[in-house]
Amino acid sequence: MKKVIISVQDLVKNYGSFNAVKGISFDVYEGEIFGLLGPNGAGKSTTLEIIETLRTKTSGKVIVHDIDLDKSPDKIKKIIGVQLQASGFYPNLTLVELIELFGGLYNRKVDAMGLLEQVNLKDKSKSKFKELSGGQKQRFSVATTLINDPLIIFLDEPTTGLDPQARRNLWELIKRIRSKGTTVIITTHYMDEAEYLCDRVAIVDSGEIVALDSPDQLIDNLVATGFERPKEVKKANLEDVFIKLTGHSLKTES
Ligand code: ADP
Ligand code: MG
Repeated sequence: MKKVIISVQDLVKNYGSFNAVKGISFDVYEGEIFGLLGPNGAGKSTTLEIIETLRTKTSGKVIVHDIDLDKSPDKIKKIIGVQLQASGFYPNLTLVELIELFGGLYNRKVDAMGLLEQVNLKDKSKSKFKELSGGQKQRFSVATTLINDPLIIFLDEPTTGLDPQARRNLWELIKRIRSKGTTVIITTHYMDEAEYLCDRVAIVDSGEIVALDSPDQLIDNLVATGFERPKEVKKANLEDVFIKLTGHSLKTES
């Protein structure tokens, strides 16, 4: 039996008269990587931040590890890992100093080097945040979610803007974190990423969940409707153009 670790029921969020989240319900199982997919403005970050206790909801029920968000948000905070905003990364502190600082916020003594090793940044321990590459910054940001040994971590578009190599590094890191039993909720715009990482995904559109299943099952469901991907077969490629124009193959020198 899979155990439900997050239960969201009829969640609504209005910003003034704007209805951003329209009564969504879903469960996240312990130990899974759960994806929230959807276009910009769908309501993904709003939903995540409500569960993370960072935003208030308009109505609905959120239970995290049997704790009711309405009753004990502080208890929820203690068992979840939230990505800290890059703006909080004081520019003149080293990575080790930053981790120790954040550990202080959780009232915890943290093994900073061990944490940096987990995200492959041990050799950068004395570097400043601003000196890191985009991929390293994101890995450091993921490390900050692990400071309080959480049961669940929340990653909002962790790979946006990264090059393919850095993206894949982050995928492996996320899989490693999950393999230790941590539940992961992630949002992404990349479908290849969701297919590779997520056990189940909810597709959100305009504040509503339009589908929720494993990537494999969602694809099978689509194929079962008779859908076929349009084939893009052209009768020539750019190399053919080149040969026609120059008379040479690309590989032979004249
Ligand atoms: P996503 O993360 O899926 O891109 P968001 O949850 O950030 O979507 O936003 C959902 C909708 O709510 C968007 O239309 C956005 O403009 C609106 N929204 C988000 N935050 C606020 C806010 N603080 N005040 C007013 N509207 C907001
Ligand atoms: Mg967002």
